[in-house]
Amino acid sequence: MDAEKENPRTEVFLAVDSDSGAEGAASLPSKLARYGEARRKALQMQSFAEGAGHVKEAVKLAGCANYLLFRHYYTVDKVRLHAASFCKKHLLCPMCAIRRGAKMLRAYLEKYEAVRQQGGQHLRPYLVTLTVKNGDDLDERLRHLRSAMRKMTVARRGHISNPKKNRFVEFARSMGGFHSIEVTNKGQGWHPHVHMIWLCASEPSQEALKAEWHSWTGDSFIVDCRPLHDPVEGFMEVCKYALKFSDLEPADNWHAYAVMAGQRLIDSHGLMRGVEIPDSLLDEPLEGLPYLHLFYRYFPGKGYSYIPNEFP
Ligand SMILES: [Zn+2]
Repeated sequence: MDAEKENPRTEVFLAVDSDSGAEGAASLPSKLARYGEARRKALQMQSFAEGAGHVKEAVKLAGCANYLLFRHYYTVDKVRLHAASFCKKHLLCPMCAIRRGAKMLRAYLEKYEAVRQQGGQHLRPYLVTLTVKNGDDLDERLRHLRSAMRKMTVARRGHISNPKKNRFVEFARSMGGFHSIEVTNKGQGWHPHVHMIWLCASEPSQEALKAEWHSWTGDSFIVDCRPLHDPVEGFMEVCKYALKFSDLEPADNWHAYAVMAGQRLIDSHGLMRGVEIPDSLLDEPLEGLPYLHLFYRYFPGKGYSYIPNEFP
């Protein structure tokens, strides 16, 4: 968890897109500054991809979010992103990672509210992080992580369906939740890990989980389990996984993308199943309200600049 504290940037990024209090015109300049920073990083990735001969991805990254068209619904002071072209390569592009992460966060928070209203008031959210030992082969380490997660999932199901026959495991406390897989590489090998949300009626034991996880991985007993006083904070940790790719060096970011792009990196269990993350990275328009258009174009070295009269 210490690794995250070194990169508070990612949290600020997502927070800006998920904080419903930050929807007014006054918050737009800080939002644009962060989008500009994300776009700058996407262009660094673009130049790496181009240099390495990955033409298709380089072209997509080059055109991503080169303009942003907002609608300012001035009677209620809400700004919505109405049009933009996105590359949707969210493991390579921090801009798409921010937008998608915010959509994912909103979708899971809504589901959580629904679960609470449908008899789940007694369930408390916990953030559970499970790790495997570092290694040089990312693909092999990921398979190792997934295999341990599978064993844990099978053990949970087994206990829930037949508690007399199958031993109790800590994961069986969770009535529902979701997770994402992310990787870091701080020069000591690939470090895949999973951030999970568990909704539990009783507090999981970190010590017991540690022993279980060690028995499933054979080499790893680093786990972390903490109650969430603010669900948004913990949910964000899970939803920002794609943004974490941009903390890697460009060559590492590319390698992680090449290995992980086709893989399922997020999933859910129990009561939190069935969440659909909208495909569009734009905001929902507000129907029936008057608005003004605000058009911005990205200029390298300068960031997003307002272009007057583009949409009179
Ligand atoms: Zn993009």
